[in-house]
Amino acid sequence: MKELEERILRDGNVLGGEVLKVDNFLNHQIDPKLMQSIGNEFAKHYANKGITRIVTIESSGIAPAVFAGLALGVPVVFARKQKSLTLTDDLYSTDVYSFTKKSTSTIVISKKFLEKTDRILLIDDFLANGQAAKGLIKICQEAQATVVGVGIVIEKSFQVGRQLLEEENYEVYSLARIRAFEEGQVKFVEE
Ligand code: 5GP
Repeated sequence: MKELEERILRDGNVLGGEVLKVDNFLNHQIDPKLMQSIGNEFAKHYANKGITRIVTIESSGIAPAVFAGLALGVPVVFARKQKSLTLTDDLYSTDVYSFTKKSTSTIVISKKFLEKTDRILLIDDFLANGQAAKGLIKICQEAQATVVGVGIVIEKSFQVGRQLLEEENYEVYSLARIRAFEEGQVKFVEE
């Protein structure tokens, strides 16, 4: 997605440890117009796939997911990161290791927001090593819902996330695919 790539080149900052900071439009300040274009792009790709619900993870997945939900006309559920272990029978939960925070957190979704008839589109802001997406998939499997695809705003293709998901036959659709960071510069995969 050209508009997104241009924005990454303009406002993204490559930090050490292979992390891209995009807090100017996605991770802290949010650009609603860009999020709307992103949501529309996901909706176009997943139109006619019978999506009934979008599932994402707090907090940075919520903005693109909501705009995709608006365009597809389906509800959006976000997994909460839970520190305290007050788990009850009403929650699906799993542990996810965070690439950026280098720590594990428990994510939960209320059972009342996932049905076994659901056809789910997963959305997240970044795909790195695929742990967040795998956690969400595990929760959807527990709910016996079908994961139709994984929509990602920014994929770092030099990390193993896409490969892990494709090995398990999940379709991954990323709006920007980063091949490498070269001397602090973002290089995209040429399609
Ligand atoms: P994964 O679970 O695929 O290893 O990492 C994805 C999650 O880690 C995303 O939900 C995102 O919040 C965070 N993340 C991974 N890489 C980056 C990055 O380069 N920049 C930012 N801002 N977040 C990242």
